[in-house]
Parts: sequence; structure tokens; C-alpha cells
Amino acid sequence: MVKREEFLTSLLGQEGCKALKKATDHNPDLALSVIVRSLMGWLDVITRQDFQGKIPGTHYACEIKKNQSDTFSGHLKTKEDVVSFNNASLHNVAGAIATVLGVEDELPQNVDNTHLAALGKSIDLLIKARIVTSYKQKPVVPQKLSKSINLPRPSTRRVFRIAKASLTKSCSFCQEHFFKNDQFVGCHCFSGLSGCNLLNKSTEPVLSFNRSWDQEAITTLLEALKV
Ligand SMILES: [Zn+2]
Repeated sequence: MVKREEFLTSLLGQEGCKALKKATDHNPDLALSVIVRSLMGWLDVITRQDFQGKIPGTHYACEIKKNQSDTFSGHLKTKEDVVSFNNASLHNVAGAIATVLGVEDELPQNVDNTHLAALGKSIDLLIKARIVTSYKQKPVVPQKLSKSINLPRPSTRRVFRIAKASLTKSCSFCQEHFFKNDQFVGCHCFSGLSGCNLLNKSTEPVLSFNRSWDQEAITTLLEALKV
């Protein structure tokens, strides 16, 4: 149980985790599905390239290489055991990690899928936001990962138009607004994405990013602001 919680906290941050707990407290089946969904969200980001690091929230080493046939090979190393996999599907890899995290229960069948789908979208976004902005804060994922998905940064400012309705959007985890006093500040969960400028707010709002922003972080922020 502890491992699952540390895994979630490492992936989603204290605030994101607290909010998620509130949303799933009344429903243990949903809480279990959320862990699996978070694991898939994390795997989705890290398996874009070969990964070598720790399973979030644990000291367990993990190596995953993507094969040409869209299968995966690698291993997990716990204190007691080494679990190897060869030409495994992403679901098999997730299963191996879930077991190591102590998520062995049968996955619940009666989960409200609409609720899980809505939560799942926010979970994916938050995981991505925390990974792509980890260079700005204390790393929550192995350094190697954040380096591997940082693209080269262009030298000029870039601007992107956003919908006016985005200015009043709030976080689906903590319900805090993303914009305060006409500045994007992010909520507690997405605060790593703060630091861009809002221009032309009353006519055609645009966000302006300086060169410290990489493309992944910009895309994630724009996705979070989509209405
Ligand atoms: Zn939030």
C-alpha cells in the first residue's frame, strides 16, 4: 500500500495526489484503477525512448528498451528479485511493474468508465507536465529521462494564441484557476508550468514563452488550457 502511494506522490506531486484521493476516496475500485492508469500514463511518456532509471517513488531499478516491433525488453530489479521481460507488450511491462508495486488485486470490473476517462485525461496531463517541467524544479523522475525528452530550444520568444475561455479555466484536480490577475500562475499541481506571459487578453489572447521553454512543456501547457 505504501509503495503505491509513494509511486503516485512521486508521479503526481503532493497536491495532485491529495486532490486525486479526494476524488476517489468514496470508491476503492476507482482508486485502484487510477493507479493503473497513472502507471500507463508514465510508461507512455518514458517509453518514447529507451529508459533507464528508477520506478518513481521506489529504489527499484528499471530498464526498458523499445524493440522495432513495438514490443519491449528489459528488467526490473527489486531488493529480492530481478524480473526480466523480452518482446513484451506495454501491458505486460505495466503488469510486471504493478506487481512490484504491490498492485496484484484483480482489476475492478464495475468502475464508472466515464469518471475514469475524465480523471485519466487529467492524470496523463499532470504526469506529462511534471516530467517536462522537472528541469525547473527538484527532479521527480530520473535525470536521464528529463534530459532525453528535452528538445533543442530555439533562441527567440514564441507566441501561441489561446481561446478567451481558457482564461477562466481551472484545474480538474484542485479546482484552482490557472490565471490570476491576468497572469498564468498555474495551480499547485501545474505550478511547474508557470512563467509565461499573457498578452492581448481583452482582444486575442496569446501566451508568450521565452527560450527557457522547450516544445514539450509548451504543448503540455496549451493542452491543459484547451477548452
Ligand atoms: Zn491543480
